[in-house]
Amino acid sequence: MIGALMAASPISFSAFGQATRNATREGRLNLRFRPYELQLRHAFNLARSQRTSTPGVQVEIEYDGIVGYGEASMPPYLGESIQSVTQFLSQLDLSQFSDPFRIEDIHEYMESVAPNNRAAKASVDIALHDLTGKIMGQPWYKIWGLNPERTPNTSFTISYDADPEEMRKKIEETAPYKVVKVKMGLDHDKEIVEALRRHTDVPICVDANQGWTDKEKALEMCHWLAERNCLFVEQPMDKSAIDDTAWLRERSPLPIIADEFLQRMPDVRRAAGVYDGINIKLMKSTGMHEAYQMASLARALGMKVMLGCMTETSCAVSAASQLAPLVDWADLDGNLLIANDIFDGMKIVDGKVTIPNRPGIGVVPLA
Ligand code: MG
Repeated sequence: MIGALMAASPISFSAFGQATRNATREGRLNLRFRPYELQLRHAFNLARSQRTSTPGVQVEIEYDGIVGYGEASMPPYLGESIQSVTQFLSQLDLSQFSDPFRIEDIHEYMESVAPNNRAAKASVDIALHDLTGKIMGQPWYKIWGLNPERTPNTSFTISYDADPEEMRKKIEETAPYKVVKVKMGLDHDKEIVEALRRHTDVPICVDANQGWTDKEKALEMCHWLAERNCLFVEQPMDKSAIDDTAWLRERSPLPIIADEFLQRMPDVRRAAGVYDGINIKLMKSTGMHEAYQMASLARALGMKVMLGCMTETSCAVSAASQLAPLVDWADLDGNLLIANDIFDGMKIVDGKVTIPNRPGIGVVPLA
């Protein structure tokens, strides 16, 4: 595996991440990591930016000859970078732990090292879940007692292209999916829905990425979208516009879902009454451990739960898929949006999230 990864990148695990104090010790956790840039198949046009790649870091935790895989993905707006993630991981001394099942203790330790670094923490959390699942010989959905049949369809994200031919190609690519997600908050919000509706009746999820500034116009848009078989609106306005969002939520015919507003567990309670639901992503929640708690709390509060991802390899996406039976909507297309995946894992079968039936997070490195 390491050899294969070395071939894929000029920077190897051994050269980059295996700090001296993390050197392999029997019966101890051994952490390795290396940067891995994710190449996007299409440039991403968001309300506030455009990009063609996403920085990432691949992680391995080895314990008694068993390797757990993890990953950090760092879209720039989250404030983490290859430098901040590798710096955080270099500070960790996981060799002080002799039991990989002490996931709660290890999270507590990571919090003591630095308060933020959520994607970096997620990479360790995912690798620990993969490792412990492999030791138990079970996938995490089973350990959590979840029914893998109860996963939702995933949405597949497309962005607007002014060229009708390019737009048509993008829409054709959505054919295998039962739900399409569109990014809004730009100058052509209606055009993208109209373009889609010329070709397909599939339900549409709308993500405004904080792009709408006027609550009255946002409400008008929600009505317009509701008439066109849209399912919900994610993060319509700025995350700080709490009163306006609550105002919109009271009146909107479509559920209003929090994304940028929300990162971790304490944010779930803050979202109640302002949003109808939350979008949980492992790179925000510090991984699977807290994501599971967030989903449970949101459900207890009567909120909808959506499971999202960043652009990620099948590693982090498969880790997220373990939670899919718990959620109302899934947006797990991160691995489909990149051109250089290095894992086999979660598959979309007939539009539906299909959790791999393998121990841990269910991934196998591609040779
Ligand atoms: Mg979003």
